[in-house]
Amino acid sequence: MLGPVILAASRSDRMRRLISAAPVTKQVVDRFIPGETVDDILPIVQELTGKGLEVTLDVVGEDITTPEQAAAARDAYLELIDRLKPLELGTRAEMSVKLSMFGQSLPSPTTALDGGPSGSAPAFPAGHELALANVRPVVEAAAEIGTTVTLDAEDHTTLDSMFAIHEELRKDFPQTGCVIQSYLYRTEQDARRLAANGSRVRLVKGAYKEPAEVAYQQKHEIDKAYVRILRTLMEGEGYPMIGSHDPRLITIAQELARRAGRKPGEYEFQMLYGIRSDEHLRLAAEGHRMRVYTAYGTDWYGYFMRRLAEKPANLRFFVRSMVSK
Ligand code: FAD
Repeated sequence: MLGPVILAASRSDRMRRLISAAPVTKQVVDRFIPGETVDDILPIVQELTGKGLEVTLDVVGEDITTPEQAAAARDAYLELIDRLKPLELGTRAEMSVKLSMFGQSLPSPTTALDGGPSGSAPAFPAGHELALANVRPVVEAAAEIGTTVTLDAEDHTTLDSMFAIHEELRKDFPQTGCVIQSYLYRTEQDARRLAANGSRVRLVKGAYKEPAEVAYQQKHEIDKAYVRILRTLMEGEGYPMIGSHDPRLITIAQELARRAGRKPGEYEFQMLYGIRSDEHLRLAAEGHRMRVYTAYGTDWYGYFMRRLAEKPANLRFFVRSMVSK
C-alpha cells in the first residue's frame, strides 16, 4: 500500500523541497544515484565495465518547465558522450533518456500534431516536436562513438509520442531502443509490433502510478503479462533487453531464450545500479550480457522516489537514517 503513496509524493513539489533539503538524504540517494557530474560518473563507468558489466547512463531529470532546461538536458548528454569517446567502450556504454526532460511535456510553439501513429485524434503532447529535435543530436552523437540510445517509458499519456519518436529515429539509427511496461494493457500489442520490426526493446514491469483503466494493479497479473510479452520479444526479430531484478523472471527469461534458439548475446539482462549488485556479477560471469542502468545528476528526486516505492524496506531505511541523526 505504501508504493502508491510514495509515487503520489514523487509528483509533489512540497515533498520534493522537503526531502531534497533533508541533511541525511544524500547518503541514501548515493546508493541508487552514485554521482552528480560527468566527473563523478566516469570512474564508475570504468569500474563497472572493468568487471565485465555494461552500462546505460541516465542523466536524471524529468519535470522541466522551460525550453532552456530541455536544451540543457540535451547538452548534458552531449557532454557525456564527448567524455565517453576516449574510453572507446562502444555499445558497452549506452545512454537512456527520458523524453519529458527533452521538452516532451512542454507547451510548444508548433502545437500538437494531428493524429498519433494509429488514430485520427491528436495524440501527442505539444512538446513532441521539441523533444524530437532535442533528442536527435544525442542519438547522432552516440552513433558517432559507436553506441546507442534507449528511450525510457514514462507515464502512459506520453507513450504514443515516445513510440512515434522512436520510429522516426530508427529510420536513420535502427539501433535506437525503447522501453515497454508489462503493467499496461496496451503493451502486448506494442510488443508484437516492435518484435516484428526488429527493434531493441527493454521490457520492464513499470514504475509509475497508473489507473486501472490502463494498467494491471496486481503483482501477479503484471508478472504474468511480463512473461507473455517476453515470449513475444524472444520469438521476434528484435533484440530483447530484460529489465528486471525479479529472480523468477530472470530464470524464465533464460528458458524462453533457449526455446527461441537465442544464445547469450542475442538478448541481454539489465538491472539498476545499487540493486542486487551480486546478481549483476553472477549473470555476467555466466556469460550473459549484463547492463547496469546508472543514473547521475542533481535532479534525482523523481528517480529516487520511484526506487523507494518499489521496495518499502528502502523507505524504512531512509526514515530510520533521518530520525537517527
Ligand atoms: P520487483 O518484483 O519489483 O522486484 C524483484 C526484486 O528485486 C525485489 O524483491 C527486490 O529484491 C529487488 N528490488 C526491486 N526493486 C528494488 C528497489 N527499488 N530497491 C531494492 N530492491 C529492489 N520503469 C519504467 O516505468 N520505465 C522505464 O523506462 C524503466 N527503466 C528501467 C530500466 C532498468 C534497467 C530496470 C531494471 C528497471 C527500469 N524500470 C523502468 C523500473 C521497473 O519498471 C520496475 O519498477 C523495477 O525494475 C522493479 O521491478 P522488478 O522487475 O525488479 O521486480
